[in-house]
Amino acid sequence: MNEEQDRANGAARPAEPALRLVDVRRSYATGPVVTEILRGVRLEVNHGDLLSIMGPSGSGKSTLMNIIGLLDRPTEGQYLLKGAEIGAMGDRELSALRNASFGFVFQSFHLLARLRAWENVALPLVYRGEATAAGRRRALEMLDRVGMADRADHLPGELSGGQRQRVAIARALVGEPDILLADEPTGALDAETGREIMNLIIELNASEGLTAIIITHDRGVARQCARRTRILNGVLSEPAAEA
Ligand code: ADP
Ligand code: MG
Repeated sequence: MNEEQDRANGAARPAEPALRLVDVRRSYATGPVVTEILRGVRLEVNHGDLLSIMGPSGSGKSTLMNIIGLLDRPTEGQYLLKGAEIGAMGDRELSALRNASFGFVFQSFHLLARLRAWENVALPLVYRGEATAAGRRRALEMLDRVGMADRADHLPGELSGGQRQRVAIARALVGEPDILLADEPTGALDAETGREIMNLIIELNASEGLTAIIITHDRGVARQCARRTRILNGVLSEPAAEA
C-alpha cells in the first residue's frame, strides 16, 4: 500500500512503525574465522502488516527472526521496537519486552507433551503469574478463536499436526502480543493443512489487525502475504508487489 495515499485518505497511522531494523548485521566468530550471517538488513514493519520472509535453507531466516524476537542481538546496526532502541537495554529489560511484544510459532510446534491443549495455551499466563481460573478462561477463548474449542482437554499426542499448530498459535496469542513471529509454521504440515494454518493467520490479520511476520521457504505461503520479502545470503530485499 502507498503511504502517501494512506495519508491522503486520512488513514490513522501510528507515529512509529512496529519495528525498524537499520543495517543490522550478525556474525559468528569461530576462532579467527568470522562468518557474516546477516549482512546489513534494513526492514520496517508497520502495525497490521502481514509480511513474509522467504529464502532458502541457511540464508539467515531464523537468525533474523531471533533478532526480531529479541532472542538474540545484532552484532552491528540498530533495532528499534516501537521506537525504542534495544541496543542499550539489559537482558532483563529485553526479556520483559519480548514477552509483552511477541508471540512465537515454530515449525515443530514446541508443545509440552504432558500438558493438555488448554494448559499449553495458558502457560505464558502462568509464567506471568496470572490466576489459574482466569488463565483457563483466556486459554479456552483462544482455543475457540483458532477453531479448537472441542479439543481443549486433549494432549498434543492426541492431535494432528495442523491441530497442534492451531494450539501453538493460540498459545502465541494468549498474552496479546503486538506481533506474531512464525518460523516455517507450515514446514511440518502437508500442503492442505499448511493452507488452513495460513488461512487462520490471514484471517487474524484481516479481522483483528494482527501484525504477523511469517518465515518460510515455500513460495505458495509467501504469496499469501500482502508484503513479501526475500532473504539471500543474509541480504533482505523487498521486490515490488507482484500483480
Ligand atoms: P535459515 O533459517 O534461513 O535456514 P539460519 O538463520 O538458521 O538459516 O542460519 C543461517 C546460517 O547461520 C547457517 O549457515 C548456519 O549454519 C549459521 N549459524 C546459525 N547459528 C549459528 C551459530 N550459533 N554459530 C555459527 N553459525 C551459525
Ligand atoms: Mg530456519
